[in-house]
Amino acid sequence: MSGLYIHIPFCVRKCDYCAFYSEVSNDRKKQAQFFQALEKELNSLPPDFSPETIFIGGGTPTAPDFQTLAEFFPIFGKFNPQEFSVEANPGTVDEAKLSLLRKSGLNRLSIGVQSFDFQCLETLGRIHSAEQAETAFRMARAAGFDNISIDLMFGTPGQTLAMLDADLTRALELGPEHIAIYNLMYEEGTPLAERNPVRLDEELEREMYDHIRKRLADAGFVHYEISNFAKPGFECRHNLLYWTGGEYIGCGPAAHSHWQGTRWANVSDLDDYCTNGPRREFEETLDSDAKERETLVMGLRLLDGVEVSSKVWKKQQETFQALEKAGLLVIEGRRVWLSGDALFVSDAVFAELV
Ligand code: SF4
Repeated sequence: MSGLYIHIPFCVRKCDYCAFYSEVSNDRKKQAQFFQALEKELNSLPPDFSPETIFIGGGTPTAPDFQTLAEFFPIFGKFNPQEFSVEANPGTVDEAKLSLLRKSGLNRLSIGVQSFDFQCLETLGRIHSAEQAETAFRMARAAGFDNISIDLMFGTPGQTLAMLDADLTRALELGPEHIAIYNLMYEEGTPLAERNPVRLDEELEREMYDHIRKRLADAGFVHYEISNFAKPGFECRHNLLYWTGGEYIGCGPAAHSHWQGTRWANVSDLDDYCTNGPRREFEETLDSDAKERETLVMGLRLLDGVEVSSKVWKKQQETFQALEKAGLLVIEGRRVWLSGDALFVSDAVFAELV
């Protein structure tokens, strides 16, 4: 199984916490140049590449106006994926755009809500209100999307457990098939990190994480990855590719690929990408040990865990057993997975294994 990731590098405004590559621009000429360069890159993909999943992310794929999307989204028509996702910012969609996306073959929408709380939205620097997010969800349903993810965040400075609970209530009232909820990170160089606000206490964040797990389980969601919850059968197949060591090609500036044993990243510069095509700013070939370590760590993100090869088992047996003794890992035969207690501190566990 293989996937295609598309990076659309435009945003209306940079959110205060965001470290993803994107440019703040609504210049239609620049957007047209980008889509022309993207079309060229798509046309240069291996002839036998036939992705089962496509994920259009960014940036904000819904930032360009209706005419631009209508003119250029047909470039994806040559693919016939089973799952075709697009990220949407509630401040950039309307009925016409959502209907266009659905008619263009997109069958899964991931709405970046982050919070329904005014104060949290302000702190994060989002361009939309809670009401716009709810309206976007309802418009997406009306446009025919029957597989919608709501993306949320927790741990925003000033957030309380009650505020988080209210976010979950409003998300659940909309009836999404999937919820992704990430612990806010303070990425170096972002306005949020530079403001250096009072961060939430780690114990409160852990309490929040436990609360999320319980509320979403009670609402019938399967917790299948550290930060991802789905109604049965609605797990994100594209992201599952990443977590199971699958192959994918990324197109667009800053897009990452993992294809036939090589990993690379396209240049993180829109003008360079439009002028010179998808130059690689990074490329590496993983040796078999590095590949196995990576498969192990990515697989451990899944609640089902990962089946460990005898080679990895031999090398890491002592670490596995120490982590099991510490209550962080569960081992059954050759299958290992993170314990409930370890999910919140997964990065510390992964650090022991790489
Ligand atoms: S909309 Fe998304 S990609 Fe754009 S700045 Fe905000 S978080 Fe980053």
